[in-house]
Amino acid sequence: SVGLSWLAPAQDELVVAQLGEAAQTLFGHAPDGVWMAPGRVNLIGEHTDYNSGLSLPFALPHRTYAAVRRRRDGVLRIASVQKGGIGWAGRVEQVRTVAEAGKLGAGEAGRPAGAEEQAGVTDSRSGSPVGWPAYVAGVFAALTEQVGADELGADVLIDGRVPLGAGLSSSAALSCSVAVALRDLVPGLRNLEDADLVAACIRAENDYAGAATGGMDQTISVRAREEHLLLIDSGDGSLTPVPWTLPDHRVLVVDTRAHHSLGDGQYAARRHTCEAAAAALGVGSLSELEAARLDEAEVIAVLGAVPDGLPRVRHVVSENQRVIDLLAALDARDTAQVGALMTASHVSLREDYEVSCRELDVAVGAALAAGAAGARMTGGGFGGSAIALVRGTELNRVAGAVHAAFVAAGLEEPRFLVAEPSRPAGRVSG
Ligand code: ADP
Ligand code: MG
Repeated sequence: SVGLSWLAPAQDELVVAQLGEAAQTLFGHAPDGVWMAPGRVNLIGEHTDYNSGLSLPFALPHRTYAAVRRRRDGVLRIASVQKGGIGWAGRVEQVRTVAEAGKLGAGEAGRPAGAEEQAGVTDSRSGSPVGWPAYVAGVFAALTEQVGADELGADVLIDGRVPLGAGLSSSAALSCSVAVALRDLVPGLRNLEDADLVAACIRAENDYAGAATGGMDQTISVRAREEHLLLIDSGDGSLTPVPWTLPDHRVLVVDTRAHHSLGDGQYAARRHTCEAAAAALGVGSLSELEAARLDEAEVIAVLGAVPDGLPRVRHVVSENQRVIDLLAALDARDTAQVGALMTASHVSLREDYEVSCRELDVAVGAALAAGAAGARMTGGGFGGSAIALVRGTELNRVAGAVHAAFVAAGLEEPRFLVAEPSRPAGRVSG
């Protein structure tokens, strides 16, 4: 294992102590408490959540922490250890959706009030936060639909121990850590259901940060169960905890450190193709489609008229089936079959959905060659992370083989995590 880079989870107590001191220095007072929300990997069921389909993620022990002190003056100050201090300060009522902010002309909106001298990232026309602070501010804005803006002021200091932009859902960990804190701190939010918190976090990401996301990430972060996967049916909204039945095996995560910027546009393009294909076929979502229908001449003809329609639909339909098959394989403790389905998912994402990339393919290929039972990309694709199903005693050897393959291919050295199904968002102190 010499030379391999492993990212261990942070110890909650250490982060709590560090954040308490840092918040004191930055804001002049201690936080009311510290909350966390986990990142995730998805074992199988990729690019299905926005097609009303099935996914099977679990929460990582790697978490994003939020030290929060409630304010009663409607002022919001947002800082992140990873971004070097206060990223935005203003008033909750200044926070606007991307669409609203875009409509405002120069000078129409006031400048941020409160601690505006410390404001870093602000849309100069609207005073609304842009960039990373919008993920946090968006949660506050979304929750103003439940209670008034005055009730929601806060000083927020974030410490993200989920690697940023690695396909492990640091964005949902960020928004969810803040949402669970506010539910605990604001009396008017105390009765919010988990589903309401998830909805607020999806809205923060979609409407305020302007990042398209289907809902799997926020759902698993808030509703995970320790030592379990979570079967998410985005069609009927049902959630089913699934025990991990392969005690000798672990999920090895390979953070490729690649992030191809074309990914965001491609994500939107895939969503659009799926919607167009569903409309052309006259179904509410692609997940209503029986696999056998993809053999019918009429269906093939209809999808032929949608650019890339047939392969994209084939991925979504076959991926839903692979989730069902993998559940059966887990139940039967059939490690080889679980692995084979993971690998088949990767091939479908690479060939039919076309969201993989060289780094992900090298990671998957090297892990399989080194004896992993299965491997696939996880998350949206175009970089980020791959996962491999590996015997616990073989983690170092397989990671070493992946590392060597990256070096041989002239790629940046990857980083490794071990993913143990862990607990959901909640309070860690105070
Ligand atoms: P992923 O969710 O897979 O990590 P995304 O691109 O969806 O990748 O989200 C990453 C973005 O989320 C970052 O670019 C940043 O805007 C925001 N973010 C996540 N964690 C933090 C953090 N600890 N501090 C500041 N911003 C963060
Ligand atoms: Mg994300």
